[in-house]
Amino acid sequence: MDSIALEKIVTAANYDPLPVVLREAKGVWVTDVHGKRYLDMMSAYSAVSLGHAHPRILKAMMEQASKLAVTSRAYHTELLGPFLKRLVEITGLDMALPMNTGAEAVETAIKAARRWGYRFKDIPQDRAEIIVAANNFHGRTTTIVGFSSDESYREDFGPFDGGFRAVPFGDAQAVADAITPHTCAILIEPIQGEAGIVVPPEGYLRELRALCDRQNVLLILDEVQSGLGRTGRWFAHEHEGIRPDGLILGKALGGGVYPVSAFVSTREVMSVFNPGSHGSTFGGNPLAARIGSEALAIIQDEGLVERSAEMGRYMKDRLRAIRSNIVTDVRGKGLWVGVEIDPTVASARVICDALLAEGVLSKDTHGTVLRFAPPLTITRDEIDWGMERVERVFSRAVH
Ligand code: PMP
Repeated sequence: MDSIALEKIVTAANYDPLPVVLREAKGVWVTDVHGKRYLDMMSAYSAVSLGHAHPRILKAMMEQASKLAVTSRAYHTELLGPFLKRLVEITGLDMALPMNTGAEAVETAIKAARRWGYRFKDIPQDRAEIIVAANNFHGRTTTIVGFSSDESYREDFGPFDGGFRAVPFGDAQAVADAITPHTCAILIEPIQGEAGIVVPPEGYLRELRALCDRQNVLLILDEVQSGLGRTGRWFAHEHEGIRPDGLILGKALGGGVYPVSAFVSTREVMSVFNPGSHGSTFGGNPLAARIGSEALAIIQDEGLVERSAEMGRYMKDRLRAIRSNIVTDVRGKGLWVGVEIDPTVASARVICDALLAEGVLSKDTHGTVLRFAPPLTITRDEIDWGMERVERVFSRAVH
């Protein structure tokens, strides 16, 4: 039986993968079971920002796995401190709490924000409110899908927690109007990823920062996908020169091989946790800490943040130069680009399948947006290789 048929029998249909069975990968190139090569323009939703099988990550992983991999946090290790110290240096915040997946780090942020609200703002017990954005994506736990505006994420999974208010993304006035004395935090993605790489108007984050300062509300940014160089800065919020009170990181922090996430915050926010109040068996283990430290060092040593800005400009220029009547918008920052497809002419999924046939891995979103997020290590020649194929598919779709 082939792999696709077997998967269909033994796993739930909670995904709809492209019809390809991948076998191995190195750098930006992925090979399927038939030996066909693809350019990875998706990077597992930014988890593989360093490229596949980065030699330094592999070395660190193998060394640490054979030395001391998993201890739980019942004991101290030599590696957690240096990893988190580097994280707080890079973010300009004070402390960090390690987790595994993005959703777990978001849950950590929600717990921290609510406790902060009760302990530092005297919000009456069980009345804390968090303002979120419409079309957000923060993960798949029941709490998180409870405040999603996408009904397909929520359908028949309730009842859901209260305590969240959604307002339109990119509209600071809507946030101002939604703040009440019970608001403890605003939780948003600085650029919405799963919504289709939606960039808010210039000044939005600065306005939110000012609003939070005035109203004594925490600004918490989910940079699970936008962080660690993806947008051409270490963090997307740096484009607006602001600093959040809490920052959620994941994906690329695991070097493309392991789930590593973290909630990073001010000392005051982190002070709400006491022994027993939160945790994870695997979060912050020696293997995770070693890989996380190595991933941060690679981004620094290889200049991947600057590279993302430069290659991102080049890729967007190439995409914008393609003459095609299916494209209505090319947007994004750094190597994180969304291409809006005119749904009356073609579906993004059909274009995605056509790109796959040409040897390019991309991902469609909501039927109308194609996303390109290659490893930050991609070269100009590799972008050229990909863009030639994208051009072929886009212009073939012209009719
Ligand atoms: N936050 C954002 C902004 C994301 O893009 C994602 C995943 N796409 C998550 C959180 C959830 O991360 P994970 O799948 O690792 O739980």
